[in-house]
Amino acid sequence: MPDEAPHLQLNDGNAIPQLGFGVFQVPPEETADAVSHALGTGYRLIDTAAAYGNEAAVGEAIRSSGLDRDEVYVTTKLWNGDHGRGAALRAFERSLERLGFDYVDLYLIHWPVPSQDRYAETWRALTQIRADGRARSIGVSNFLIEHLERIIDDSGVVPAVNQIELHPRLQQDQLRTFHDEHGILTEAWSPLARGGDLLHEATITDIASAVGRSPAQVILRWHVQLGNIVIPKSVTPERIEENFRVFDFELDDAQMNAISELDGGERTGPHPATFAAGAR
Ligand code: NDP
Repeated sequence: MPDEAPHLQLNDGNAIPQLGFGVFQVPPEETADAVSHALGTGYRLIDTAAAYGNEAAVGEAIRSSGLDRDEVYVTTKLWNGDHGRGAALRAFERSLERLGFDYVDLYLIHWPVPSQDRYAETWRALTQIRADGRARSIGVSNFLIEHLERIIDDSGVVPAVNQIELHPRLQQDQLRTFHDEHGILTEAWSPLARGGDLLHEATITDIASAVGRSPAQVILRWHVQLGNIVIPKSVTPERIEENFRVFDFELDDAQMNAISELDGGERTGPHPATFAAGAR
């Protein structure tokens, strides 16, 4: 097993591990164990959010890991009810308090909530948080091209990453091209399409047999070779380890192309143009 995942360069000069550990829907009481196992396995990026309700457990697991704070890359996110300048600054402070840290590595706007029309103002608040050194990098999540264009035009600051739903059934080619043209890294959420029937898809299982790896490893390797950051979630120790072992084999062009053929534009989650849960 590799000691650590490779790092990718962000547009602000910082670096981010290419493979991390996501904790969406991990109950707070299970989070510390899962994060501890991930850190013990070699993961050095933990992806949480205010909305996940487990920031405190993430902070606790990192503190008890024996690792220094600066050895672990921590991402958290601003929830939909906290858009707007003042609310965003307060939400960020609350996240830091729950984590028990004095900075985060990456702070993201979780969803644009276009119906509220405040995400440009929120983005300007994040630029202040970064200027204050409280978030080393700032980015967004679930932003469509029109949302990205608006905040870049408005603030002159290009997000370091856009974290979007992305897996073989939803490959987001247009958005990824926009990211490449603007120096935004693509971070894939639900990289395994939530572990559903994609893992039993014949194209994936055939490639898995050919390379002697599991279907999940094949999908994660496909992401890595595309240049995506990936943050698979698991509460199962063997899967946490399995998902980290993707840097010691390669898919060839034919295998990469075969997976590209699976794109069906199928979302497992909500559409960013309309999602507004929790918004005030
Ligand atoms: P994933 O695509 O990571 O799939 C997780 C599911 O797959 C779990 O049910 C897990 O089961 C199962 N699984 C994991 N590894 C394997 C394996 N090797 N073999 C078989 N099954 C496996 O989905 P998520 O939705 O959790 O996304 C990952 C992360 O992305 C989240 O945790 C979160 O950090 C982020 N995210 C961000 C969103 C956003 O809006 N920004 C939205 C959704 C997610 P088990 O745990 O039982 O092992």
